[in-house]
Amino acid sequence: MSQLNALYAWIKSYASTQHTRIALTEINSIISGMTGIPREHLLTHEDIVLSNTDIERIKKAVKKRATHYPLQYIVGSVEFMGINFLIDPGVLIPRPETELLVETALTYMADREYRTVLDLCCGSGVIGLSIASMERNAFISFTDNSKRAVHLTIKNSESLGLTPRVRFYTGDLFSRVPASERFDLIVSNPPYVPHARMRHLQKEVLYEPVTAIDGGRKGMEVIKRIIQQAGKFLNQNGMLIIEHDDTQKRYLETLCTDTDQTALKYMKTINDLSGLPRISIFSRK
Ligand code: GLN
Repeated sequence: MSQLNALYAWIKSYASTQHTRIALTEINSIISGMTGIPREHLLTHEDIVLSNTDIERIKKAVKKRATHYPLQYIVGSVEFMGINFLIDPGVLIPRPETELLVETALTYMADREYRTVLDLCCGSGVIGLSIASMERNAFISFTDNSKRAVHLTIKNSESLGLTPRVRFYTGDLFSRVPASERFDLIVSNPPYVPHARMRHLQKEVLYEPVTAIDGGRKGMEVIKRIIQQAGKFLNQNGMLIIEHDDTQKRYLETLCTDTDQTALKYMKTINDLSGLPRISIFSRK
């Protein structure tokens, strides 16, 4: 049996002792992440030789994965919008549905010739950095209340060669953004999961920073604060595009008219591929 096949067999039997299964694609991601061997080589080169240190590292990673520790934290990276981003346990793992937010933002940016963008609650920076990669004229500011998140966004911006067009702030929502700043577009994937639902999330999610996910009562606590403050930081024809939970559309539709303290107007909500309302758009009044 080749060394690789022996390793696959060990992983399979270890996972079954833990009453779990690890898919082959995940196993190959772990092996590739731990050794640097490209995934496609694993599929075609059965005779790959691994050092004992490699094997020990792979086994350790598999043991961690068997506890539902997220694959993305083990390998330290994630693909989003076709771009490879660094990730670590201090930030939320980007979800594929957030790509809809980026695509929506890019459409409006092209239509309205937007240049300046703020990625609010940026985490690892995937939203703003994807926009910056695809829209070469865009200038992006990032802010997050987590130093670790901002640090990771900086690292990601450096590895993508985007440093000349980015700027960073660390603090609660808009608190560190200079009061005189105005953006064409604010994009945000804030914490929005309703607190009562936190207990029912997948085991993997328990390893992610709770402050990036728990949105308090009805999941609306951070979103409400964003909507109250965002208008002050938008240019006259600017807009806010925000990701949210599928239960929140009805609150979002009425939020501006209800409070009337905001400089924003609800425009519309966009459904994801499964038909659920997940992205809402607000414009300056
Ligand atoms: N979509 C994430 C989840 O389902 C939550 C992300 C967020 O709160 N911004 O866990």
